[in-house]
Amino acid sequence: MANPIAELVGLLSRLPGIGERTAARLAYHVLDQPRDYAEALGRSLVELHARVRRCQRCANYTAENLCEVCLDPRRDDGLVCVVARPPDVAALERGQSFRGRYYVLHALLAPLDGVGPEALPLAPLIERVKGGELREVIVATPLSVEGEATALFLAQQLRPLGVRCTRIASGLPHGGELEFSDQITLARAMDGRQEL
Ligand SMILES: [Zn+2]
Repeated sequence: MANPIAELVGLLSRLPGIGERTAARLAYHVLDQPRDYAEALGRSLVELHARVRRCQRCANYTAENLCEVCLDPRRDDGLVCVVARPPDVAALERGQSFRGRYYVLHALLAPLDGVGPEALPLAPLIERVKGGELREVIVATPLSVEGEATALFLAQQLRPLGVRCTRIASGLPHGGELEFSDQITLARAMDGRQEL
């Protein structure tokens, strides 16, 4: 590699919220640290894909077969919160206002971009509803066009199976991204949920 600093700057500036100047500052900072730090950082990045996988039950990211929430015996098995992405689980867990289980879609319906229902991995969730173990499915997808379309589709699929489907209340900032909402706002959105 001709210029390792330039290569690192190029890679870092592809991260969200990191412009080229910040990327350069970070690269020089790493270089100024003891070598151990850069090596640990590199190892950590390599291990990310090697060790992190999707929970077999809820598809949240985990280093084990099942995530911590799925393994926790104190959670309410009858209540499932459907979210778009793993950071949404992390946000709701920070808020500590939800004590049920999760289901992570890793996708949202986006008909204009050609993302249809087949992209949503719903079969395991539908099986659980059919098995009668759920009394309520809370849909906490973002309050965007794609998030709303996904919520309506979920309700259409699940409600006929006899489970209650609710939607978190609007009022979240930043287009309803759970990730960027504070704990009180999240708790209010969860408490104020309405029938879908
Ligand atoms: Zn899980």
